[in-house]
Amino acid sequence: MATAPNKIAIVGVGKIAHDQHVPSIAGNPDFELAATVSRHGSVQGVEAFTDLNTMLAKRPDIGAVALCMPPQARFAYAVEALAARRHVLLEKPPGATLSEVHELERLAAQHDCTLFATWHSRFAVAVPAAKAWLADKKIARLAITWKEDVRRWHPGQEWIWEPGGLGVFDPGINALSILTAIYPRPLHLASADLSFPENRGTPIAVSLRFVDPEGAEVTAEFDWRQEGPQTWNIEADTDAGHMKLSSGGASLAIDGRKVEQAPDREYAGIYRRFAELIRTGRSDVDLSPMVHVADAFTLGRRIAAEPFEF
Ligand code: NAP
Repeated sequence: MATAPNKIAIVGVGKIAHDQHVPSIAGNPDFELAATVSRHGSVQGVEAFTDLNTMLAKRPDIGAVALCMPPQARFAYAVEALAARRHVLLEKPPGATLSEVHELERLAAQHDCTLFATWHSRFAVAVPAAKAWLADKKIARLAITWKEDVRRWHPGQEWIWEPGGLGVFDPGINALSILTAIYPRPLHLASADLSFPENRGTPIAVSLRFVDPEGAEVTAEFDWRQEGPQTWNIEADTDAGHMKLSSGGASLAIDGRKVEQAPDREYAGIYRRFAELIRTGRSDVDLSPMVHVADAFTLGRRIAAEPFEF
């Protein structure tokens, strides 16, 4: 017998909600978009609230929320939703600090709710194949190159330049979510150079170097000043050849031969996983990508860069 779909509300209706969450929910029979909560945004044909408390009180039939606002504001909304015993999906990064997300885990367990800290890049189609291929290789070197044009991908978004908005780590943490998923063992940070525009509170470019206990050279370069072609690559030299994971995880080549390539279906995977977590009464909260970012802010050397204006 078919079960009724989970009624879900999107909270924070902006770019990513419209681009990905609305179509992914529409394409998944396990969910029904039953409301939105947003001060300005809405979705045509869906009941719209401007305040989470009111939605939680008026719609007890809605059992889940997807929190799609910038990370600095996410904690307060998640606490309200969990206290009202709703399952919670967190956009990435899951919060502004590690300790607040630990608190959300505790609250989710206390209220018997699912908490899902999503990392959309982990659902890119070639990531599982890259993980499987790397698993038994001796890695000599792995280099992440994540270079994009902030004006193109974040037009006018001021929150990314405010404390907690992460700057270039906003896309960079996607690369770190793939790294922490595919690398065969834990890494820790050795050094970080963080370039801050003189007029901004978050970095525009970052260089990271990691320690691998087995001696591989592991580095990451994030830069938001890249015009023209955009680059989201992870390349590894191993005892069995060269691996190139490109297009943010959507394409994999070994020694130049394509192994896997498909269009982006990341958010479809996220909602499949959320349905499974709710069905089985579990949470999924992996903070390892965010630990590397926090370590970079702890250990990083600050470098002054040109002022940035949109
Ligand atoms: P956005 O469009 O700037 O913000 C989303 C919505 O959140 C806004 O429309 C706003 O809706 C609400 N909001 C903004 N500031 C808020 C605050 N202080 N308190 C409460 N609500 C607030 O951002 P976005 O690009 O969708 O990104 C949101 C999250 O998704 C970020 O964590 C980002 O890293 C992640 N993400 C974004 C992308 C992307 O391509 N943009 C891709 C993957 C993941 P109202 O004013 O209507 O309340």
